[in-house]
Amino acid sequence: MSGADLSPSPLMDVPGMVAPDARGEEATWFEHCRQRRLTFHRCGSCSAVLFPPRGACPACGGTDLRWEDSAGHGRVYSYTVQRRRVRPEMPESSVVALIDVDEGFRIMTRLVCEPDQAAIGMQVAVAFTDAGGAVVPVFIPG
Ligand SMILES: [Zn+2]
Repeated sequence: MSGADLSPSPLMDVPGMVAPDARGEEATWFEHCRQRRLTFHRCGSCSAVLFPPRGACPACGGTDLRWEDSAGHGRVYSYTVQRRRVRPEMPESSVVALIDVDEGFRIMTRLVCEPDQAAIGMQVAVAFTDAGGAVVPVFIPG
């Protein structure tokens, strides 16, 4: 456990989450999640917003990439309702969504709500949950 675990907010209980296999820049990103931070890369050369994090800017090829924190708000770009349980601990149905985060990147995530509550364009906010020992972001209405 790292020092970042000393003051985090409580994790949301979301059943059926799977531990990520994170490497490289992703490992740093998941460490930010452990600190309850939703982060993204901004290119220091051309200011492009990059997500997921990577080693070089696809717009200009620059490698001066800086971590920035998102405020954790966005809107549902699209979603689908998964009605097939891949593992027994998963709920009967769950919502997987693409979220357009206010800072200008799109993330695929679990949207924690009833399937009939999900809607394209709805406002959402980040929360964090345990996924097999890792901390991952999910989004909730609000
Ligand atoms: Zn760039």
